[in-house]
Parts: sequence; structure tokens; C-alpha cells
Amino acid sequence: MKLYLGPAGYCASAKEGGALGSFMRLNELGLNAQELEFVQQVYLKRDAAVEVGRQAAERKIRLSIHAPYFINLCSQEKEKLAASKKRIADSLDRAEALQAEGPVVVHPGFFQKRPESECMQAVVDACFEFSAAYPRVVLGLETTGKHSAFGSLAEILETCSRVGRKNVVPVVDFAHIYARNNGRIDFGAVLDEFLSYGYTSLSAHFSSINFSEKGELNHLPISENKPPFAPLAAELKKRSSKFDSVHLICESPLLEDDCARMKAIIEEEGLKLA
Ligand SMILES: [Zn+2]
Repeated sequence: MKLYLGPAGYCASAKEGGALGSFMRLNELGLNAQELEFVQQVYLKRDAAVEVGRQAAERKIRLSIHAPYFINLCSQEKEKLAASKKRIADSLDRAEALQAEGPVVVHPGFFQKRPESECMQAVVDACFEFSAAYPRVVLGLETTGKHSAFGSLAEILETCSRVGRKNVVPVVDFAHIYARNNGRIDFGAVLDEFLSYGYTSLSAHFSSINFSEKGELNHLPISENKPPFAPLAAELKKRSSKFDSVHLICESPLLEDDCARMKAIIEEEGLKLA
């Protein structure tokens, strides 16, 4: 099992600016992944993305991308759907330029009173288009944290399996699943359900999280133990022969500091980063 771990966003403690500074800091900390946050907008031009990708490869940092939040593939309004698809397409285009091995992570959409089956079909249809248009990069559908959003673990696994393409994969956000379940999560069961769909490469997000009856509110530092990380590390260890790779992005507000904490816990389990 090749294990990749890094922050969602640039390292706060980097001595030099930009992507290269962040990658150098990750090297110092012994971390090997980073997610580029396009959450407000796709800020990176294509030329710049080629250069960032080169720097990441040199520093052996495995990249993924978080696509903008303003996406709703379940929308019945043509303009909103087109704008959503454009944001995903732009993100996939930059992933190609970056030669990112990790996925472009997307929150698929919101129900807005549309039945689940219709929402799923809309997401499946869009995924077929992206899969064909961007065959060299991976689109990741993330488990979402709010009940109003399409994206329970079951919905994400079923959607990806209906698409049935290697470059459309589930992204498991453990904090979101915990928030949806009112503060409960069985890590072993989640991993086994994921494996039961035939996936052996896991892309995942982890942090602690605040939630209400509607679902997620905000991400919290790892030390809050909501949920705790050590049990997940232990369940991954038990299944290390079943996974080819695990790409773990820490969404804590403490970024690389919390990645370092997670790395220590992983190593206590006897696992090592790739
Ligand atoms: Zn997300």
C-alpha cells in the first residue's frame, strides 16, 4: 500500500512563497501530497499549472485538486448546469497540465427537491462527458457533509459504479460521513464498503468537524478527535494488503502541522509514507 499524505492548500509555514515553497516545506516534514484548492475559483492558468506540476514532480509531491464549491450537476437550470460543468472542465484541464495523479475532487450537487434517482442520473451523465473529454486525469466524486447535498457514501459508490470508468472514482471524506451520521463512524465498515466496489486506490479527506442536525458546519483540528484519526490508521493497517494506494488529504485548519500529527500516528501503526 503506497501511502500519500498532505494538506488541503499551501503550507502556512513555508519559508518561500508559491507552490515551490510549499513543496519544499512538505519535503522538510516528510510529507508527500498536496491538494490545490480551486474552491473559490480556478486560479491557476494553464502555463502556470505546467510549471507547478514540474516542481511537484521534482519534489515527489503527489497532487490533487479541489474543484470550486459553486457546482451543482443536479440543477435543472440550464445556465447553472453549464457553469458547473465549465468549472469542472477547467479544473480537469489544469489537472492535465499539472499531470496530477490524484483526482479533481468535486461535490456533485444539491437535491433541491429533485428525487435521488434523477440527481444520480444527472451526475452519471455529466461524468460520462468528463471521462471521455479528459481521459488522462481522474475525476473524484466526494462524499458530502450536508443532508441537502447529493453524496452519501452509498450514493457516491453507486454513481461511480454506474459510470464504470477508471477515471471516475469515489473520494471518501471521513469527516463528512461522521457529520452526516451525527458523530458516528465505523472506519472499518466504510473501508470494506469501498473495497467491495472493486476499488483498490483510495482518495480521502480527513479532519475533525463541527456539525448540526443539517450536517457539517466547519472543519476542526485533528486534536479535537471528532472523529479521532488513530482508529482509521489502525483500520487502514489491517487492510494494507488490499489497497494499492491511499491518498490522504488533511483538511484541518492547521494544515501541515496536523499532517505531521497524522504522520506520527500512521508511523505508530507501523505504516510508512511512500
Ligand atoms: Zn470537499
